[in-house]
Amino acid sequence: MSKALLEIQNLHVRVEEKEILHGVNLTVGHDETHVLMGPNGTGKSTLGYAVTGNPAYSVTSGSIVFDGEDITGLNVTERARKGVSYAFQQPVRFKGLTVRQLIETAAGGAIDECGLCDILSKVGLCAHEYCNREVDATLSGGEMKRIEIATVLARHTKLTVFDEPEAGIDLWSFSSLIQTFQDIRRELKGTMIIISHQERILRAADEVLLLDGGRVSESGTAEHM
Ligand code: ADP
Ligand code: MG
Repeated sequence: MSKALLEIQNLHVRVEEKEILHGVNLTVGHDETHVLMGPNGTGKSTLGYAVTGNPAYSVTSGSIVFDGEDITGLNVTERARKGVSYAFQQPVRFKGLTVRQLIETAAGGAIDECGLCDILSKVGLCAHEYCNREVDATLSGGEMKRIEIATVLARHTKLTVFDEPEAGIDLWSFSSLIQTFQDIRRELKGTMIIISHQERILRAADEVLLLDGGRVSESGTAEHM
């Protein structure tokens, strides 16, 4: 096992012929939670996409090393197979699919009652109440966010990038979501990068990274920022 889970060196990323990231350096350890902040349009999502392998965001120089392996040239599916996953800003809702089926799809197989209860309780939901609910518009934004996080837990990925998990939910729901992130950080084996504008998320962070003008302008522990 290498020391760092993710090591980004001098990363330059271009979108539609325009360079957005001008040399990002970043190291993230195993089982750590890092929060990425910075002004709008500075390239936070671009960095998330570049790590997870979105083809619209092309790396023109620099490298992304994941778990000791250079993944810069791998596509999104290959990276997902290695344990890199992206949590969508606006989760998809599937007509006719139940919460249970969605979580089983993420896990790649059937999960018994106990396992389902375990995963859903980690995100603050009662399995009895939710496992047979359809993943549709009757779920609130906050519930949907929790279910999305539950699919991440079920997937057992090594690295998950959350892009503005506060989007689409009210601030009260987000406060209790922060508690969920704190619980997951304590219990989960796995690393999270959370892109957020909400300073309160720093409570759940091991390290904070400020991105400005397409470069890392500051980084350190939450207490020192
Ligand atoms: P942030 O997440 O920090 O708000 P983004 O990474 O979304 O910033 O965007 C950084 C810059 O890249 C912005 O100028 C944005 O307009 C541009 N950009 C991002 N994605 C695309 C895209 N798919 N096509 C064209 N321009 C894009
Ligand atoms: Mg963004």
